[in-house]
Amino acid sequence: MSTSEVFAPATPLRRAQRIANIEVSEILRIGARAAQLKREGRDVIVLGAGEPDFDTPDNVKAAAVRAIEAGDTKYTLLDGTLALKQAIVGKFKRENGLTFGVDQITVGAGAKQVLHNALMATLDDGDEVIVVTPYWTSYADMITLAGGVTVQVAGREENGFLLDPADLEAAITPRTRWLMLNSPSNPSGAAYDEARLRAIAQVLLRHPHVWLLSDDIYEHLIYDGFEFKTMAQIEPRLADRTLTVNGLSKAYAMTGWRLGYAGGPRELIAAMAVVQSQSTSNPCSISQAAAIEALNGPQDVLEERRASFLRRRDLVVDALNATDGIRCRRPEGAFYTFASCAGVLGKTTPDGKVLETDADFCAYLLNSHDVAVVPGGIFGLAPYFRISYATSEAQLKTAMTRIAAAVQALR
Ligand code: PMP
Repeated sequence: MSTSEVFAPATPLRRAQRIANIEVSEILRIGARAAQLKREGRDVIVLGAGEPDFDTPDNVKAAAVRAIEAGDTKYTLLDGTLALKQAIVGKFKRENGLTFGVDQITVGAGAKQVLHNALMATLDDGDEVIVVTPYWTSYADMITLAGGVTVQVAGREENGFLLDPADLEAAITPRTRWLMLNSPSNPSGAAYDEARLRAIAQVLLRHPHVWLLSDDIYEHLIYDGFEFKTMAQIEPRLADRTLTVNGLSKAYAMTGWRLGYAGGPRELIAAMAVVQSQSTSNPCSISQAAAIEALNGPQDVLEERRASFLRRRDLVVDALNATDGIRCRRPEGAFYTFASCAGVLGKTTPDGKVLETDADFCAYLLNSHDVAVVPGGIFGLAPYFRISYATSEAQLKTAMTRIAAAVQALR
């Protein structure tokens, strides 16, 4: 080696502007804090993650094993195998009354990638996307990543956390590209009935430049006889500007398989394929084979699990409403409750800290009473907190007792 060669240490990493205002999800951060407390020996109950505690159904696992053994282990068509696209066409027809050709279907690594593809394929810098608070936190970050601007419209509690058509009308500008609707909703569990969808459709029909992203991933988790409907079914005149997004993660307990899909206009599906072709290419071949079995195989497991989620929902909602200072709407679907903690703000914890925000309340629950929940502020609506009740009834009962004790200890 020449003595004149100098070793220069690397210059510090410079992050791209496009991620300057984005961090990894706060929900994951709360999960990490809870995991840390567990390692320290604390018996923390985590009601944070949006993940069913059930296992993937056996018939679906078996289909994956068969796929591996049959050598289904190669690249597939870019945005989904023909067989899976046909199964998805069948699902949309059977369950939603929607008619798609296979060239109107896209499959990605989770509904998250499908949403990402749609935004990346359509947003230019400064384009606006309307989301309804409280919204799934990733929406805003995905919009930012794609160069767009998130426009929040309040879904107020007295309005069932749903979008008011008049508020939508007021939020639309010439730069609006998308309205994102999520029903049943993460984090509120609120769902849109046919009348509400029709009223929203009336507004959209007056604004032909606004497209609709319908995130139906919690479709199968719906309670009390509520009838799930999706916009493209209710208003066919919007079908040529609606992307109907769904996935396997929540209904079939397949979060780790990373499989989501959507149906929509051909030109949009083709544009999304461009994004996927230069990022991840096809979703996992084995997961795709398993997804065919999930969609076409026996569906009884959905009903069993739905019944179990319903019992958990009522357990949590009843316990929260029996706690002074907490108020919780009984949600129509998903596996979340979004409760108000307005009644405990201003109170003082036993170690002398005044609770000023929902984040303070959630930190108190975690640090003093070993229950991890997520503050509403990160979903764009405070002061609330989200509970994911996708865990056992025994754990939920203990958690509810702890929350009641935590609230009672406030002065
Ligand atoms: N949409 C909503 C509203 C969600 O809550 C989630 C998961 N947290 C997703 C989409 C993405 O699910 P996946 O990527 O696992 O299909």
